[in-house]
Amino acid sequence: MNFQLSEEHQQLREMVRDFAENEVAPTAKERDEEARFDREIWDKMAELGLTGIPWPEEYGGAGFDYLAYVIAVEELSRVCASTGVTLSAHTSLAGWPVYKFGTEEQKQKYLRPMAEGKKIGAYCLTEPGSGSDAGAMKTTAVLDGNEYVINGSKIFITNGGIADIYIVFALTNPEEKTRGVSAFIVESSFPGFQVGKKEDKMGIRSSPTAEIIFDNCRVPKENLLGEEGQGFKIAMQTLDGGRNGIAAQAVGIAQGALDAAVEYAKNREQFGKPIAANQGVSFKLADMATAVEASRLLTYQAAWLESNGLPYGKASAMAKLMAGDTAMKVTTDAVQIFGGYGYTKEYPVERFMRDAKITQIYEGTQEIQRVVISRMLLK
Ligand SMILES: Cc1cc2nc3c(=O)[nH]c(=O)nc-3n(C[C@H](O)[C@H](O)[C@H](O)COP(=O)(O)OP(=O)(O)OC[C@H]3O[C@@H](n4cnc5c(N)ncnc54)[C@H](O)[C@@H]3O)c2cc1C
Repeated sequence: MNFQLSEEHQQLREMVRDFAENEVAPTAKERDEEARFDREIWDKMAELGLTGIPWPEEYGGAGFDYLAYVIAVEELSRVCASTGVTLSAHTSLAGWPVYKFGTEEQKQKYLRPMAEGKKIGAYCLTEPGSGSDAGAMKTTAVLDGNEYVINGSKIFITNGGIADIYIVFALTNPEEKTRGVSAFIVESSFPGFQVGKKEDKMGIRSSPTAEIIFDNCRVPKENLLGEEGQGFKIAMQTLDGGRNGIAAQAVGIAQGALDAAVEYAKNREQFGKPIAANQGVSFKLADMATAVEASRLLTYQAAWLESNGLPYGKASAMAKLMAGDTAMKVTTDAVQIFGGYGYTKEYPVERFMRDAKITQIYEGTQEIQRVVISRMLLK
């Protein structure tokens, strides 16, 4: 067993950290306030090869592995969780199902431009009436000649509105329930595709989240992903890996808050000494650092398992559960260490705290992670 990152992984971490600190961090506060996505940052990420890290070079990717990918999401999230999730949804939720279930033609047509960062991907599962119970979806797809006609709406779609390629789940056979769900690759330019309400959110504010409406949206038959009726399986397997991207996002947020808290605790003086000289503060920092490291290990382990073709569903659910709770606790503690200043927008810890909350909700709430983990334990 080797806990040391390879030289290539370390170099990638340094490269992404440098990019994150110099190109992403300077505008993170302003983009959060304005709820603004910055395409220029995305284009620079594409130039660095970050938009297709785990995909083979023949599909326009960097030919690296899932560990490299989670390191990149972590480093971006350390300064800006919105940028981290833009990459995570694009890679894990949109690229992954095309890579795993797409035909050669679909991979060349859709995975390649996504990997090269020319197109952005999104994943449409959640509906107004079906979140945790995704199988209760209402969106339908009916075959009409050489096209499927999709009707319905999806909500809370990360990259909604900025994405060009959407992986959409719809019922092709409503009587069969989850066995009647199929997956489709939908381009934003297809007739009947509409972007609806854009959410005004507590955190990850520069990651756009939108409603996507399908109003007789016509999708060529060849854009069916996998086979008819395989969609729910594709949706769930996609989330298995996606969860680890969110775990990485959570680790990054927590690390960012911890770094800020350590610095502040060394410099802020009260009662004639740095506040870090009080065990009430330094023990808190020790607990924060320990939880971050434990979360990172679970996250890297799940990524390593996936990279090595081993089962990773349980590991990835555990990583997301642990890292999401850690991010929430560590960012809350960081605000506490900053005292009143932590509650203001002068310092980034309040943003980290707002950003952390979503890691306990999306890609399966923490309760759903426990459902997934306990089912595997008890089967
Ligand atoms: C910012 C943001 C981005 C998102 N991005 C995407 C995206 O890109 N694509 C996409 O498809 N979706 C996306 N989502 C949707 C997200 O995955 C869902 O919000 C989430 O799965 C929870 O569904 P819900 O909101 O309907 O809550 P519900 O399912 O209604 O849950 C409400 C509460 O009940 C609990 N609960 C429900 N069922 C159980 C149970 N069986 N046992 C115990 N507790 C339970 C939940 O844990 C939660 O606390 C996003 C959401 C947000 C807010």
